[in-house]
Amino acid sequence: MGITRLPEVGALLARLQAAMRPAVTENTALVGIHTGGVWVAERLHAALGVRFPLGTLDVSFYRDDYGQRGLHREVKRSCIPFEVEGRDIVLVDDVLYTGRTIRAAMNELFDYGRPARIRLAALLDRGGRELPICPQFVGAEVQPADDEVIALIRDEGGGLRLAIERK
Ligand code: 5GP
Ligand code: MG
Repeated sequence: MGITRLPEVGALLARLQAAMRPAVTENTALVGIHTGGVWVAERLHAALGVRFPLGTLDVSFYRDDYGQRGLHREVKRSCIPFEVEGRDIVLVDDVLYTGRTIRAAMNELFDYGRPARIRLAALLDRGGRELPICPQFVGAEVQPADDEVIALIRDEGGGLRLAIERK
């Protein structure tokens, strides 16, 4: 098993945009999860128009394995430049796996206020869920082998591409 061919990021973003365009309103806010999710959220935000705000979350402190992983050198700051109370929020991540990151992101969001709704957009869904979390918008489903990590790479010009790395 494993991945033989990776999809183009442009095609995945186009699919997400098409699904999200009719589903967002002026009460929507996008929230990208560091780091890959922020890159994806920035692209979606630019493509869908600036009618609604964009925020970012770093969930390192909220992860349930924080004690094991410790603090990474590059913990980013979360930035939520809008009122969370009553908002229609779409969390955005690059790769959805066990669901633990999304659980942590929701916990952090609730510290800011009580959203009206939270939905989830993922560029790739690699399965393997350990929590009852299901994305509403997905670029593609992939089935990598256990030792395969899908890296989202941003080159200097800002272009995004996918690569497979072995653990
Ligand atoms: P989860 O918490 O659902 O197990 O993992 C999702 C988080 O870990 C996401 O923020 C995602 O960026 C990262 N992640 C998990 N698996 C992969 C992978 O194969 N490739 C990349 N780029 N990120 C991954
Ligand atoms: Mg990530």
